[in-house]
Amino acid sequence: MTASRDPHVLVVDDDPLIRMMAVEALREGGLTTVEAEDGVQALHAFDAEHPDLVLLDVLMPGLSGFEVCRRLRATPAGELVPIIMLTGLDDSESVEEAFHVGATDFISKPINWTLLRFRIRYVLRSAQLLKELVRNKESLSSAQRIARLGSWEWSVPDDLVQRSPQYYRLFGQRAESFGDGMGALLDHVYGPDRAMVDAALSGARNGAGYQLTYRIVWPDGSVRTLLETVERADEGASAAALLMEGSAQDITEQVEAQRRIRQLAYFDPLTGLPNREFFRESLLAAAARCLRNDSRCAVMVVDIDRFARINDSLGPERGDQVLQVIGHRLRESMGDRAPAEPAGGGGLPRLKVARLAADEFGILLSDVGTVDDVLATAHELLHAVRAPIRVPGQEITLSARVGVALMPDHAADADALLKAAETALNRAKRVSRDQVALFSEEMKVAAFLRFTLEGDLRRAIGEDELQVLYQPIIDVDRRCVVKAEALVRWPHSSRGAVPPPEFISLAEETGMIVPLTRVVLERVCNDIAELGAALPDDFRISINLSGVNFMDPQLIATVRAVLDGAGVAAARIEFELTETVLMRDLDYATTILAQLREMGIRVAVDDFGTGYSSLAYLRRLAVDTLKIDRSFVSELDDGQGMAIVRAVIGLAHSLGLEVVAEGVETTAQLDTLRSQGCHLIQGYLFARPMTSRALARTVASVVIG
Ligand code: C2E
Ligand code: MG
Ligand code: MG
Repeated sequence: MTASRDPHVLVVDDDPLIRMMAVEALREGGLTTVEAEDGVQALHAFDAEHPDLVLLDVLMPGLSGFEVCRRLRATPAGELVPIIMLTGLDDSESVEEAFHVGATDFISKPINWTLLRFRIRYVLRSAQLLKELVRNKESLSSAQRIARLGSWEWSVPDDLVQRSPQYYRLFGQRAESFGDGMGALLDHVYGPDRAMVDAALSGARNGAGYQLTYRIVWPDGSVRTLLETVERADEGASAAALLMEGSAQDITEQVEAQRRIRQLAYFDPLTGLPNREFFRESLLAAAARCLRNDSRCAVMVVDIDRFARINDSLGPERGDQVLQVIGHRLRESMGDRAPAEPAGGGGLPRLKVARLAADEFGILLSDVGTVDDVLATAHELLHAVRAPIRVPGQEITLSARVGVALMPDHAADADALLKAAETALNRAKRVSRDQVALFSEEMKVAAFLRFTLEGDLRRAIGEDELQVLYQPIIDVDRRCVVKAEALVRWPHSSRGAVPPPEFISLAEETGMIVPLTRVVLERVCNDIAELGAALPDDFRISINLSGVNFMDPQLIATVRAVLDGAGVAAARIEFELTETVLMRDLDYATTILAQLREMGIRVAVDDFGTGYSSLAYLRRLAVDTLKIDRSFVSELDDGQGMAIVRAVIGLAHSLGLEVVAEGVETTAQLDTLRSQGCHLIQGYLFARPMTSRALARTVASVVIG
C-alpha cells in the first residue's frame, strides 16, 4: 500500500441505497470508495484493492458480516486493517459478536452520515498509528537481531521474566527450553563466571543496576561472551513492585578481535613472548607494588653474544629457531608458566620473561630476596643459554651476558630500573663473554660520561681537534721502515688523551665514524702530499676502517674524491679491516674489495686470528696482508700462541699474502717470529705511534742492528 494515495474504503452492504449514501458521504470527505454487495464480493474486492478500511454490514445474504470479518482477520493483509461493522440499533448481541470476530468498531443503524465521516477518519488515524507501532517493533526486533542484542523485563517480587525472542537466540535456546524465572539464566552461564553473575543478580533483586561481561555456554558446548546492562525500570516505585530491565549483547567477536589486537600489540610473534611494551607496563605495575609493599623487585636484561653471526652464518630462518629455543629456555628456567597468550576476557597475565629486542630478553622478578639470590638466578639463566642447541645439520653453543638491577637499591622507578639493568648489560658487554653484571653507581657515572663524550667527540670532529699518528712497520730482513699504520688520537681538552677503543666504539655506535674516518683519510693524504719525497715511492700508509665505513655506500666515492683532492696515488694507501667485518656479507665484501684492488688500494686483515679465520673466505677475497693479532704475539713469551702464529704465517705464505706481526714488544717475540718466517714487524720494540714528521725522520734514519 502506498502512503500517498487517498484512503480507500471498502463499503460492503446488500442494500444498494445504503451503499450509495455511504459512497456519497465518504467521497465528500475526500475518501475513495470501493463497493461490494455481498460477503464473497467483499473478500474478492479486499484482495484486489487492499482497502485501508472496511465498512461491513452485519446482516447479508450468504456470508454474514461476522464471517467476512473473521476470514479477513485470518489473512496477513487483513490482520490489522480497521473493520467497522454496521449493526442494528441496540443490538448488543451483534456488538458483542462483532468484538469477538475482531471488528475494530461498530456503528448502529440508522447511520448519521456526517458523523460517519469523522468516525472513519479517527479510526483511520489510529490504524495508521498501530501500523507504525508494529513497524517500529519489527525494526526494533530486527535491529536487535542484527546487533545480537536481546532484552528482558523482570518483575522481581513474583520473579516473572519477559525475554525478547532475540534474547533466547543469544543463548542458542528457545523460550520453552530456557527455563523460568531469573535464576534460569545461571544454568546457561559458563561455570567460572557463575558466581559473578549470581552476585550481580542478588544486587538487582534489591534494585541495583549493573553492567557485566560474562560467558555463556550454548547447547552445542561453544562458549560465547555477553555484555549485559541492567537498570531499574520503575524508578521510585515501592520495593513490592520492583521492575528491572536489561539488555544483553553478544560481543564474542569483539572480544576475540580485541584479544588479537592485544596479541599483536603486546606479544612478539616469533617467540610468543610478551614484547617490550608489555614488559614496560608489567614493570610499572611491579614497581608500584614494590613501593606499596616496601619490597624489592629486579630486572635482568639478557643479551645473546654475537647473535648477528648466527644469523649471518646459518641464515635468518635458523636464527629465528635459535631465538625461539632461547626464549623457551629462559621461560623454563624462570618457571614462567603464565600462558603465552592471555585468556579471553581476563587481564594480561603476570609476566616474567619478555623479548625486548632482536636478541635481548628481559626478566622481571617481583618480591625478590637478597642481591645474591638475584645474581644466582642470573647465573642459572646463563647456564640455560649455554646448553648446546641442535639445529638441522649442526650443534651450536651460545653464550650470553646479563645486566642486573634492583629496585629500590639502584633505581626509584620502573624506567630507571630498566635503564640501570641496560647500563649494567653494556658494561657486561665490554668485559668478557659469559658475564653477569650488577648495576653500580660508578656505571651510571660512566654511562653519563659516555653521553657527554658523545657531544665532545662531535665537536672534536667538526673542529678538527683529532690528530693522526703513524706507527712504523719494519721489514727486519731489509732493515728499513716499509709501511706505517695511521692511528687516530683525541687529545681531549679536559680529560686528556681518550683511548681510541673508547671513542672509536662510541663513534661506531653513533654513526660519527663516517666523518671521523674521512678526517683521518684527509689528514693521511695531506701528510703524504706534504712529506713528498721524504717517503719512498712504494711506501704505504694503512688506515683502519670500521664495519660501518665498509658498509657505507659512499665509501668508494669518498676515497676517490679525497685522493684526487690531495693529489695522492691510490697505491699509497692500504685499508685495514677485521675478519668479522669482511665475513658479514661475503658477496658484498668481494665486490668492494675488487673495486679497491682495481683502484690500486691494498687491503689488510686486521687482528687476524681473533675472529672466524677461515681459509675459504681468504681465498675468495682480494686481500693482500694478514696482521697477526697482538694477543697471540704477547702469548709467545710464555710459549703459548706458537701454534696459532705458525699457522697464520704458513697460511699467509701459502696464499701468497704478506704477514705483519702486531704488538711486538720483546726481542724474544721478534726472534720467534723471524724464525717462523715473519719479517714485517709492528710494535713498541721498534717504534710507538709518532707524528708525520717524526715518521719521515725515522724512515730516513732507521737501520736496524
Ligand atoms: P689496531 O688497528 O689493531 O691498532 C693497533 C693498536 O695497537 C694501536 O692502538 C697501537 O698503538 C697498539 N700497539 C702497537 N704496537 C703495540 C705494542 O707493542 N704494544 C701494545 N700494547 N700496543 C701496541 P691504538 O692506537 O690505541 O688503537 C687501538 C685500536 O683503535 C686500533 O687497533 C684500531 O682498531 C682502532 N683505531 C685506531 N685508529 C683508528 C682509526 O683511525 N680508525 C678506526 N676505524 N679505528 C682506529
Ligand atoms: Mg689496525
Ligand atoms: Mg690490529
